[in-house]
Amino acid sequence: MLKNDKYEVVIGLEIHSQLLTQSKAFCSDKVAFGEAPNTLVSPISLGHPGTLPVHNKEAVNMAIMLGLACGCDIREYNTYDRKNYFYPDLPKGYQITQMDTPICNNGSVEIVLADGSKKEINLTRIHMEEDTGKGLHDLDIENTLMDYNRAGTALVEIVTEPDFRSGDEAYAFLSEVRKLVRYLGVCDGNMEEGSLRCDANVSIRPLGAKEFGTKVEVKNMNSMTNVKKAIEHEFERQCEMADKGEEIFSETRSFDAMKGTTFSMRSKEVANDYRFFPEPDLPPLVVSQEWIAEVKAKMPALPKELYNKFTKEMELGDYDASILTESREVAEYFLEICENTKNYKAAANWTMGAVKSWVNSNATHIENFPLSPATIAEIIASIDSGTINFSVAEQKVFPALLDSPVKKVSEIIAEQNLALMDDDDALQKLVDEVLAEFPDKVAAYKSGKRNLIGMFIGQIKKKSGGKADPKKTNQLLTKALS
Ligand code: ADP
Ligand code: MG
Repeated sequence: MLKNDKYEVVIGLEIHSQLLTQSKAFCSDKVAFGEAPNTLVSPISLGHPGTLPVHNKEAVNMAIMLGLACGCDIREYNTYDRKNYFYPDLPKGYQITQMDTPICNNGSVEIVLADGSKKEINLTRIHMEEDTGKGLHDLDIENTLMDYNRAGTALVEIVTEPDFRSGDEAYAFLSEVRKLVRYLGVCDGNMEEGSLRCDANVSIRPLGAKEFGTKVEVKNMNSMTNVKKAIEHEFERQCEMADKGEEIFSETRSFDAMKGTTFSMRSKEVANDYRFFPEPDLPPLVVSQEWIAEVKAKMPALPKELYNKFTKEMELGDYDASILTESREVAEYFLEICENTKNYKAAANWTMGAVKSWVNSNATHIENFPLSPATIAEIIASIDSGTINFSVAEQKVFPALLDSPVKKVSEIIAEQNLALMDDDDALQKLVDEVLAEFPDKVAAYKSGKRNLIGMFIGQIKKKSGGKADPKKTNQLLTKALS
């Protein structure tokens, strides 16, 4: 909770999410990031007279999938509206959006806070619309240059209820939404590149008050941390104003990341009149129950479902389950190991340990990890059967496999002679040797210095080149010394 002794904060978020469709929302122009400016345009995305938009089915599929994942009601009869305004990044002079008939209503997203507590954030709506082009302000000294490659790209806008009471809650929600869109493959979730953009509506109210205060809308935050910072700054700024008896008025502010503060862009008193009217060029879009069922059938497992499976069916701890569900690829890698071993805990440990540290130290993704999940399962099986122990597996077998990923675990063990000694006679010989070497220590042990056993085990381990099974060594030693 973000509050002081007088006020508390109230926040609602609006999130624009760029859909990962191949082509734009209403025409076949290709969608791609980083192409030469104005190469991904056509008369339709440039709004030439006489052109007609056409629905992109994949964009609708993605909006439905996101809605289903959030438990929303999916609208059957969808229409589109024109939001009219003049701005250089909007060549058509209007944006196609859904004003009165958002494709998704209601629904919610559960967030988990730092103290482990959970909270349900309610969604007002998710609607479909198209993106604008981009003004490039720093390429030319005198002019702003326009790139229309992004114009007409498919977006969904997620609008939440004013359910947040702190910047931390907003942060947790954004990371949950980012995780979700990435799982579903509907958006790359990259806030820095602007594929996921968030506006925060922030107001304050006296503690205990039921009514909401006047909200201020904050834009231009390109990271989750900045959203949290902007909210926290806005709370302080509004509290100071209220304390001075100044009236907080409805306005749009911009976040200055360098200063960590917000500044006014425009007052809502003189807000644009967008003159919304029904888009006459697009026929109504009817989403049948069959269509919804089709999308549902293609939906991957959601992070929450996997979390429950990991903790309940596979009996992993909460911590393991939350790390393993951080990304779909990590969860899938873990699940593939588990197709080849029943030792789920070991599979979790290898995924979160050796595999993840390789991924981190190579600054890459698990998709690029060279060893197959089946190979990791083979390592686990070799440990569980007593052929090798964990430290040999981690320090010798794993690095050797990384050097030659095509080899089998058993080959590495054989080549490097890594198998633990399973010959009792050979091990007994080492025990006898060591005891003969240290008669004074044996005497000391027998007179009560029982912790000398560790030293004996160490010596035997050394003689065996690390391959003496510690458990068996211990047994044989204890017997020999008694
Ligand atoms: P507008 O008419 O300005 O578009 P909406 O009612 O559509 O406002 O709400 C836009 C967003 O602002 C939603 O996310 C909503 O939850 C949030 N919101 C609405 N009222 C408040 C408030 N008083 N304080 C904070 N957020 C608010
Ligand atoms: Mg609104």
